[in-house]
Amino acid sequence: MTTGSTPRAPRASTAPLAHLAAELDELKAAHLYRPLRVMSTANRTRVTVDGRDVISLASNNYLGLNTHPRLVEAAEAANRAFGVGSGAVRTISGTMTIHEELEAALAAFKHVEAALVFQSGFTCNTGVIPVVAGEPDLIVSDQLNHASIIDGMRLSKAPRVIYRHKDVEHLRELLATARREGRPDGEPYRSILVVTDGVFSMDGDIAPLPGIVEAAEAFDAAVFVDDAHASGVLGRNGRGTVDHFDLHGRIAIQVGTLSKAIGVLGGYVAGPLVLRDMLIQRGRPFLFSTSHPPAVAAACLAAIRVLEEEPELIERLWSNTRRFKDGLRSLGFDTGVSETPITPVMVGDSATAIRFAARLLEEGVWATSVVYPTVPLDGARLRTIVTAAHSDDELDACLEAFGRVGRELGLVAG
Ligand code: PMP
Repeated sequence: MTTGSTPRAPRASTAPLAHLAAELDELKAAHLYRPLRVMSTANRTRVTVDGRDVISLASNNYLGLNTHPRLVEAAEAANRAFGVGSGAVRTISGTMTIHEELEAALAAFKHVEAALVFQSGFTCNTGVIPVVAGEPDLIVSDQLNHASIIDGMRLSKAPRVIYRHKDVEHLRELLATARREGRPDGEPYRSILVVTDGVFSMDGDIAPLPGIVEAAEAFDAAVFVDDAHASGVLGRNGRGTVDHFDLHGRIAIQVGTLSKAIGVLGGYVAGPLVLRDMLIQRGRPFLFSTSHPPAVAAACLAAIRVLEEEPELIERLWSNTRRFKDGLRSLGFDTGVSETPITPVMVGDSATAIRFAARLLEEGVWATSVVYPTVPLDGARLRTIVTAAHSDDELDACLEAFGRVGRELGLVAG
């Protein structure tokens, strides 16, 4: 109702959210504040970011598929044929043939019975884990698993224990104790789920899957591997870590992302049909959030075909990775334990990592600084990912800039 009286002045605006301003000030003082960098171009090897033309080492676009003509054409055709939105959640009226075609293609690609697509890799983990594990079960998780796995475990009511990063002996001990002692009430665990990233996203190291599988089999546990950074990167045609280690049939649940090497958006779970069926009944992001636009599904489907038909892209990704890693090491940089295209350049403290990234950007190279809480307080680093699309000249220009700025900041010898 309009009263005509002068509106009352708003209350002092800071009161209810004052704690946010205070926390932001603390982050800034501790060099842990992350500004958003804004691109005005497609996310390619050369981008314009904050108005500056640079070479990017900052994407997860491993194969350059986000601008691949076959994907772009598939998306455009789907937009024209089916509209830009799906109109509902999957379980109401948001399932189209293109969604199911993609899932069938993913299942065949991964050599499993079935696959189910979620809106993102993140929602896939937070959706799947609570369905697979509950109060009567136990989750055993690698110390450095991705945030979405951690959130998925928190959302599940399952008790959990953490094993030291990639430490299969520690995993075995925890499994042995769990099987020997059972739950606090003395009952045996209904099931045990061992959860690991396939490739760890901040260090670029690979999970010791053969050892993990043997340990799990010895104690009748199931294995869940999140291949977000292995999909399109490791294994034949980018089938992931299970294929890389030839462990087909021995891993119950594989999660992958469609947002990184695949170049589009989404997450999927691949495994037995019962898993897919149950997730359709109970996976909360699947049930309560709208499905992908048809163009997203169509582009992902085109990407799977590209992986099958253009293996030279993955070969180029790996030869670029070797060239860049070797170059960084010969400049004297510490690239940590990386075994994949994710190549960290270890720095130590946050302030230096942020300064390093800022100076590189001025020199025309975009590499993101990664600081606490994403990595430990003393583990600040630049995180680089080369892609199949980088040219030799681009990689050499990046190395030259790393050398110059690294010497200027005293990170490598002059
Ligand atoms: N799992 C891991 C290991 C990841 O690195 C990421 C991406 N940061 C995700 C899941 C989430 O994937 P998406 O970006 O598709 O949500």
